[in-house]
Amino acid sequence: MKVVVVGGVAGGLTCASNIKRMNKDIEVVVFEKGVDVSYGACGMPYNLLDLEKPVESLYALSLQEIREKRGIDYRLKHEVIGVDFDNKSVTVRNGDKEFEENYDVLVIATGARGNKIPIFEGNDDSFYFKTLEDLRKVKSYLKENDVKKVCLVGAGYVNLEVAEVLKEKGVDVFILEKMDYILPQFCDEVREKVYSKLKEKGIDLFLGVDITAKEKGVVRTNKGDFNADMFIISAGVTPNSELFDIKKGAKGAIVTDRYMQTSRKDVYAVGDVTLAYNRVIDDFVYFPLGTTANKQGRVAAYNIVNGNRLEFYGIVQTATFKLFEYTVATTGLSEYQMENLGIDFEKTVVTTHTRGAYPGGGKVTVVMYHDKKNRKILGAQMVGEDVVAKRIDIIATAISNNMKIDEFAWVDLSYSPPFAPVWDPVLTCAQKAL
Ligand code: FAD
Repeated sequence: MKVVVVGGVAGGLTCASNIKRMNKDIEVVVFEKGVDVSYGACGMPYNLLDLEKPVESLYALSLQEIREKRGIDYRLKHEVIGVDFDNKSVTVRNGDKEFEENYDVLVIATGARGNKIPIFEGNDDSFYFKTLEDLRKVKSYLKENDVKKVCLVGAGYVNLEVAEVLKEKGVDVFILEKMDYILPQFCDEVREKVYSKLKEKGIDLFLGVDITAKEKGVVRTNKGDFNADMFIISAGVTPNSELFDIKKGAKGAIVTDRYMQTSRKDVYAVGDVTLAYNRVIDDFVYFPLGTTANKQGRVAAYNIVNGNRLEFYGIVQTATFKLFEYTVATTGLSEYQMENLGIDFEKTVVTTHTRGAYPGGGKVTVVMYHDKKNRKILGAQMVGEDVVAKRIDIIATAISNNMKIDEFAWVDLSYSPPFAPVWDPVLTCAQKAL
């Protein structure tokens, strides 16, 4: 059997590696159009901390390891530019050469691209922050220029992480956001904390900003002109699915079943190019994350090798990021989603300490949602100091298992003063909801 994988980062390499791990006799060819082997994009903001640190330190494996240890025929600078599903072949461009490659099974792992804002095209002080190549350009601009002030366009989690890192490096930072609020997945209580943390750190956030023109060192907007030495844009993503004549859903992402098989026979899709099965609503959503791409890649590999037997367990939309002393985290449905789905939900909010009789710790705000009718936990959000990310994971596990708030409120979580109060903040919140 020969498997061709298109795209060689999180989803693509995971799938290729797992196929080889399960059956080394299967031929696996990965075509990656970029110049970098599989890397952890999630580490990009933190790689910025040290301008001398090579961006290649984010590689998951070297090309040699992928080829020699894993036995994968991994080819960089190879772009798939056409697919013939009937004849089971792809057209590949490498430099000025083009060739056809046959497959028995095709895996689409082309990811998503950062949304472009045309006004910024051709400006040598403006950069995107989606790929390792983007990171290279950002770092070399920071090294070669006297950058004192950076304008971040878009207030998603990526730019918030970048804002913190640049500020820690002594660079003045401000953020422009097109919408009237930030982080649509989160509720007002969490957003307010984020706004005040940015303010405390001297990072100005301007909301409802329409950028109308860009000139060197300045953007013109409906809220006035903003000057900066450098502009970094992270304005959402779009799935790289256009090449494939295949069933698609929200945002143009590829539709798969829970085996990760697409509407085309012997064609699988994984990662940011696909929708993900959401356990809470028993439906597919677009929620692109590296953690999901990895799991989907492994599931697709299993099904390619063993026949369609392993279902993708499903996401509950868990995500987290750091903002200075704060960790911000979410799992389950957002208020916006629940309102859209017409779910009658109850919201409970507590702000409490994260530790007992032990120095350190801090305050955390926990927000939990449950269904008023069947009492199932539907979602949670958290912001605060100390351990937040792992606390949201407790609730993610509960949601994944359809737990009711009344059961969750009594769960046997560990207690010792250095780690938690007697009632962990997540239990305090659930108790309040009873
Ligand atoms: P990608 O990583 O986008 O890889 C797709 C690859 O396909 C690309 O290399 C592309 O060049 C290649 N390709 C596309 N078209 C073709 C073609 N026609 N032929 C050949 N090759 C092609 N996720 C988390 O879970 N947690 C985090 O903390 C987190 N932080 C992030 C921080 C940053 C700055 C960024 C940018 C992303 C972050 N993510 C995070 C998201 C995560 O990186 C992505 O969800 C993940 O990389 C998706 O993997 P993928 O394999 O589906 O797609």
